[in-house]
Amino acid sequence: MRDIIKINQPMVGKEEVDAVTDVLKSGILTEKSGMGPRTLEFEKEFARFVGAKHAVAMTSGTAALHAALAVTGVKSGDEVVVPSFTFHATAETVLMCGAEPVFADIDPETYNVTAETVEAVMTRNTKAIVPVHLYGLPADLEPLKKLARDRGVALIEDAAQAHGAEYNGAMIGSIGDMTCFSFYAGKNMTTGEGGMITTNDDDHSEKLRMMRTHGERRPYWPTMIGNNYRMNEMLSAMGLVQLRKLPGFLEARRTNARVLGEKLGILGKVMPPKEPTGRKHAWYLYTLRLRGANAGKRNKVVEKLRSKNIEGAVYYESPLHLLPLYRERALASRRPLPETEKACRQVFSVPVHPKLGDSELEYVFETLKRVLA
Ligand SMILES: *Cc1c(COP(=O)(O)O)cnc(C)c1O
Repeated sequence: MRDIIKINQPMVGKEEVDAVTDVLKSGILTEKSGMGPRTLEFEKEFARFVGAKHAVAMTSGTAALHAALAVTGVKSGDEVVVPSFTFHATAETVLMCGAEPVFADIDPETYNVTAETVEAVMTRNTKAIVPVHLYGLPADLEPLKKLARDRGVALIEDAAQAHGAEYNGAMIGSIGDMTCFSFYAGKNMTTGEGGMITTNDDDHSEKLRMMRTHGERRPYWPTMIGNNYRMNEMLSAMGLVQLRKLPGFLEARRTNARVLGEKLGILGKVMPPKEPTGRKHAWYLYTLRLRGANAGKRNKVVEKLRSKNIEGAVYYESPLHLLPLYRERALASRRPLPETEKACRQVFSVPVHPKLGDSELEYVFETLKRVLA
């Protein structure tokens, strides 16, 4: 019997172990300013990687989203447009600011919100737009950026799944007002838990640094409500190693996705993921769509894959606007979200992570072929 092929798993080697051990031996585990030597280096390297002026390390992707919304000034009475087809932290962080998440529908081919679906739910009260680069594929950012500029609202990207993705030749992280990344264990690069915000704006960068250390302008002198969102030195050291490995991870994901895509294309039973011209997918998840399927049939496919030791998975089974926490909120679904609801019933993801060798990829394809027959 083969080992279970996980949907995603951390890729950690001796280099990470050594880097963390060095920090433990050095005695500097963190700095109360949040700016220990490893953290500053990690931020500098991450900013360079995405081509942004600043990068600010955080304790998680969720902390990053919350901080980005907070320094934008999102507060009670404000609305923030987010997808309903996403991990729920995207909307949760809006609630944390006391504001209302308003859900926009998705494009059925890319699973991302578009300028049209976002504009359809905007009002005078909209303060920010938070597109999610779902599964690692960038949303169509140029029209979203124009919309945000025309309406005077912030464009904050949820790039928790999109490290290394590109849009029209620019890296994700260099485009919007602020871009939020996650380093959770299953993501394209990891520190176990962790996050990063990139921005080209000096004022945002300064406020984010305050936000992460209790709103302090200088030690023990808070001038805004903040939190403790500091990344510690062990995690920053690990992040530096992971960042260096990221291009290799991405290359392996891309190769696996291409090989699988070619084979599945011939099969013609499922809709493989799209990668529109000008966009480079980060392949965090390889997500297929069963045409015309009801959720029951899709769930059976996933169950069968699991019985063959392949961790198929559904992201996301329920759209946020139908979850109890959001269902009762008056603004949550200002418009019906038919494409979101349909995608939730039809999609499932299969592994393409860098640990997959040729024979495992072949096994994933052959098993899929049999399950779909
Ligand atoms: C993982 C994820 C987050 C949250 O990141 P954490 O580091 O787990 O807090 C937010 N949004 C999306 C789309 C994610 O996939």
